Amino acid sequence: MPLRIYSTESGKVETFQPRTPGKVTMYICGPTVYDLIHIGHARSYVVFDVLRRWLEFSGYDVVHVQNFTDLEDSITKKAKGLGGPVSEVTERYTREYFLDAEHLNLKKATHYPNVSENIGRMIEVVEGLLDSDLAYERDGNVYLRTGSDDFGSLSHVDLSTTLVDDIQPDDRRENPFDFIIWRRAKKGEPSWSSPWSDGQPGWHTSCFVMSTNHLEEPFDIHGGGLDLIYPHHESVMLISKAHSKKRHCNYYVHNSFVTLGKEKMSKSKGNFVTVRELSEEYGGEAIRLYLLKHHYRTLLDYDEGEIREASEEIQEMGRRLERLRSHTYGSGSETDLSEKIDQERSRFEEAMNDDLDTPKALPILFGLIEWSDSELENLSKDDVVGILDAASQFSEVLGLFQTPVSD
Ligand SMILES: [Zn+2]
Repeated sequence: MPLRIYSTESGKVETFQPRTPGKVTMYICGPTVYDLIHIGHARSYVVFDVLRRWLEFSGYDVVHVQNFTDLEDSITKKAKGLGGPVSEVTERYTREYFLDAEHLNLKKATHYPNVSENIGRMIEVVEGLLDSDLAYERDGNVYLRTGSDDFGSLSHVDLSTTLVDDIQPDDRRENPFDFIIWRRAKKGEPSWSSPWSDGQPGWHTSCFVMSTNHLEEPFDIHGGGLDLIYPHHESVMLISKAHSKKRHCNYYVHNSFVTLGKEKMSKSKGNFVTVRELSEEYGGEAIRLYLLKHHYRTLLDYDEGEIREASEEIQEMGRRLERLRSHTYGSGSETDLSEKIDQERSRFEEAMNDDLDTPKALPILFGLIEWSDSELENLSKDDVVGILDAASQFSEVLGLFQTPVSD
């Protein structure tokens, strides 16, 4: 049974068909490196890590690109506050990201591009768009025209009404939805010389270039949090249409938010809980389990009590797994559970293929461990080996029990 996954673009759960048989290419919008990541960010990285693990388990060769945004106002502000160069901030928080990623047991992406190392191609893309008259320059800023009918086809909103309040007033635009693909730098900001101004690429230009530097369009999956649908992914899609004359990607996949007191967790609002503080207190696997107990498309209101429970559950399951692994056999029993194990495998696969239903897949793994532990004295050695084999495959997919358990 193939994977079925929800496509933001079609608004439906679709059967996943990779562009090239046996291979999946995915680009995940990564962190802006100026602070520690919070649990809302972690949700996105864990979800796409599980998607990748599931695709690999299903036999695909996965190319996974995740960028670092190392050029942004918040980074410049932080560097100013600290009185050091921007690179000090970005290098430090890139390192901190990798430390958190290790605690969360995220697999390493195939490529980690960042913005500042790709400016040359970003300028070329802006030049190309200006040459084809799809973009225009005003006072050192370059804008992409958004007049086409299908702008809004990803976010499914009537841009003429719904989002107009979100648009920053900018008199220089022909249309309030036109967006910046190159902007003149303000004093004190990092800048690169270009034919239009000493400036910086726009955010959407950056992700367009970082994704297409590594992946041929249309690639398979573009992922990130729901808040990236508009304007970010919608705009990257339009840059691609204008520049490459191709579809940018085939499946847009978005995870829902983590809220705190019913408000979206966000650094800018100051209402967030970092992965660092939680992993120090409960361990990274507990955070991972907590996140995966909720389907990636449901809104998750943060509850520390649930992480505490997840931490206890991880330890308890880890101990049971250890007992299974270290069990020695006496006279041995004659059970044959291969049929039961096959059934559990099918149920697990069905749950994962059903739009990555981790809340359904987790109890299959935990139920198998619990049941086998309680029946251990009655099981044959072959059955325990079979159960451990299935449990370790499910755990690998979910990214759990990958580190030794301490009592
Ligand atoms: Zn992006």
